[in-house]
This record gives sequence, structure tokens and C-alpha cells, in this order.
Amino acid sequence: MVLADLGKRINNAVNSALSNTEDDYATTVDVLLKTLVTALLEADVNIKLVSNLRNNLKETLMGNKGTGKSTSNAQTKKLIQKAVFDELCNLVDCESEQPFQPKKRKTNVIMFVGLQGSGKTTSCTKLAVYYSRRGFKVGLVCADTFRAGAFDQLKQNAIKAHIPFYGSYTETDPVKVAAEGIAKFKKEKFEVIIVDTSGRHHQEQALFQEMVEISNVVKPNQTIMVLDASIGQAAEQQSKAFKESADFGAILLTKMDGHAKGGGAISAVAATNTPIIFIGTGEHIHDLEKFSPKSFISKLLGIGDIESLLEQFQTVSNTDDAKATMENIQQGKFTLLDFKKQMQTIMKMGPLSNIASMIPGMGNMMNEVGEEEASKKMKKMIYVLDSMTKQELESDGRIFIDAPTRMVRVARGSGTSVFEVEMILMQQQMMARMAQSTRAAQQGGGMPSMPG
Ligand code: GDP
Repeated sequence: MVLADLGKRINNAVNSALSNTEDDYATTVDVLLKTLVTALLEADVNIKLVSNLRNNLKETLMGNKGTGKSTSNAQTKKLIQKAVFDELCNLVDCESEQPFQPKKRKTNVIMFVGLQGSGKTTSCTKLAVYYSRRGFKVGLVCADTFRAGAFDQLKQNAIKAHIPFYGSYTETDPVKVAAEGIAKFKKEKFEVIIVDTSGRHHQEQALFQEMVEISNVVKPNQTIMVLDASIGQAAEQQSKAFKESADFGAILLTKMDGHAKGGGAISAVAATNTPIIFIGTGEHIHDLEKFSPKSFISKLLGIGDIESLLEQFQTVSNTDDAKATMENIQQGKFTLLDFKKQMQTIMKMGPLSNIASMIPGMGNMMNEVGEEEASKKMKKMIYVLDSMTKQELESDGRIFIDAPTRMVRVARGSGTSVFEVEMILMQQQMMARMAQSTRAAQQGGGMPSMPG
């Protein structure tokens, strides 16, 4: 079962458990837990973790409510959704570490380790692009002299991504190549130097020895282990073996794009208490996402992820517009104009599928209609927003509740229906609620709210 299905299953479990109004609260919780456990196990999540989740969730839900019946269905739904959200976050959380923050005008070295075929070389380039887009001068070093063609592969990727690179066709000592590459880029005042090391098909003593030797020479600020998510539960064993031999700080989990075993890999890694900092979601150089348990679970449940969206937004648009939106969100506000600006930026950011999942409702739309159709729909949304007056755009959207005739006018002006206008207002309201709860979370350490 792919992860997107897991999200749907979980939401369905919550909804169907609540739809049976005949049941008492304890039965509702029981039904929910059963469905949830089945869905998680089918997604290959570690059985020990699922069992813990079940017990914790039961305790929270029954503890909170005692045996009493809830006051309203909507309230129960919110309570259950929040408890499920919290428990799922706990499931994948392990002292979550932020991606390494390189220092400007300093040399920062990141070293990659992992087995052959895990996606190491591809991920090196992705990370180089990630930091380059954030304004750093980035260089790539190929210290893989073991595999014939490794340097050519890195070179091709680097050229495509416009990242300077270093490697050798003749030198057979990877430690020497690494040292030369670092020296060259250091001299040229590169700020982030990413070193790709060689892999093996199996965890071998020779590989671990080589990693330690290279590490001693390049003195990395961060060592990242690349792990193929499609190995599922075996991820625990592999990350443990690597951790014992080469001390790495974080994990980059590749091939998370719709793979059945992704849930297994994440929970297995979580069980080893090693932070996952990035996930690879495709073969393209932009298919890299910062991993945070909250964002991951938010997306999984289709409730959007305002924090990741903001990060992307800041990367592509450093304009006054973006600053104004940021300021609004920090104050817990999110106007229709903010919504419009984000839509426009998203259209520029591409690939749409990566971004859409961060907006409530958009991820589902993308799954249902595909990228091209979703893009058309987004354009239509912009037309709707274009038809609004300045006063309307700068409002929090509630202005339309008191004046439905204005909704009719906007629909007419944009060649859409009142229903379509209403849908946009609903999405913007969700974002506004998320902005409010993000602010509350920043002030008091809470959670993003779930749409009701
Ligand atoms: P290395 O041997 O560890 O350096 O692995 P490569 O970087 O050569 O990657 C092996 C294969 O996995 C290549 O075909 C990559 O395109 C593919 N790959 C890497 N990362 C991802 C990912 O996140 N998603 C998918 N679908 N493929 C990936």
C-alpha cells in the first residue's frame, strides 16, 4: 500500500468510526483503533510501534473522555483527529534534527555515505541544488574511485544542475581525490562542499574502513547516510550497521515516491533513533523534501503543511510580497491576497505535485485529476481571485459570508461558478486557521490544527 493510500485509509477510519451514531464512545474508539492498526500494518509500519501507538491512543481517547459520550460529533472528531495526528507524529519522531545550517563565507563540508544503488550520487546533486537555491556557493566532489563510471555520473548530474564539480579519471585513492577536491574548492571560497563516497553492494569492512579514512581527511560538518526506502523494515538493520561503523549524523531516505515500503523504512529508522532529515521523492533534481515528522504526517493525512509551504515560498520569492505574507502569517493572519500570491508562486515553483500536497485539499485533487488538470484548476482559481476587489483580497474572506451577492459577481467576472468561489474561500479559511495555529504553536508549542 502506498503512503497516499494510508492517509486516505486513516481519514476514512476516523470518518466511518464517527458516522455510526448508534455506537457508544468506547465502541467508536474500538472500531477506529482496529481499522487504524490494520492500515498501518498493511503499510509495513513496524509492528512494535503500531502496538505502542494503539495503546497510547486508546489511553488518550478513553482517558480524555472517560466512558462518557461526547458532547458533539464535531468535537469528538477533532479530538480523535488530533490524538491520531499526535500519535503518528510520535511514531516517526526521533529527536528530529534540522538539516545542517551552513555558515556563510565559511567552508562547510557534507559527506555522503551509503550502499551502491541507494541513490547517493543523485541525492548529492539534489542537496547541492537545495543549498545553491538558498544562496550558497556549492561544489561537488566525487570520491568514488571504486565504481567505474561514478565520476561520469556525478559530472553529468552536476552539469545538468549547474553545480561545479571535482573528480579524477586516473587517481585510484579516494582519500586523495577527496582531499584535493576539498583543497580546490576551499581555495576558491566555496561555502558548501558535498563529498560523494563510494558504495558497495553489501555492508563490507572495506567500505566502512574507506568511509572512516575519507572522513578523517575531509572532516565533515555533517555526514549523511543515504538509505533506499524500498527496503522497508530492513532499513533498521542497515542504518544500525552503518551507525556502528561510521558515525553519521542524519539519514536521507530515497525513493519515497509512492513506494509501498516507505512507511516501513520510516518507522524502522525511527526505531533506531536516527533522525531522517530529507526524503527523496523522485529522480528529478528538485525531488528532495525536508523531512519533519509534523509535515510528513500532515501531508499524509491530506491536511496541508503550512511550514513547508512557507519554506518553499521563501526560497523562490524573496520579494516584498513574500515578506508581507510572512508577516501576516506570523501575526496569525492569512488573507485572500496572501492566498493569491501563494497560488501564483506555486505555479512558478513546480513540480506542482510536490507543492500541492502542502495545501489542504490540493494533494487529493492532484491524486484524483493528475498534474495537468490540477494546473488548469489552479489557473481558474487565480482568475477567481483576480476578479475580487482590493478590499476583498485584503480581507480575511469573511466579507463574503455577509454579502453572498459579491460571490455571484466574482463568479460571473471570472467565468466560474459560485460553488468554485466557495471552494476557494474554504481553502483560504483552512490556511488562515493553520496560520493561527502555527502562531499559537510558536508561542505555546502546540500542533497545527486539523480541518474539521
Ligand atoms: P548510488 O549508487 O547510491 O550513487 O545511486 P544513484 O544515485 O546512481 O541512484 C540509483 C538509482 O536510483 C538511479 O536510477 C536514480 O535515478 C534512482 N533514484 C535516486 N533517488 C531516487 C528517488 O528519490 N526516487 C526515485 N524514484 N528514484 C531515485
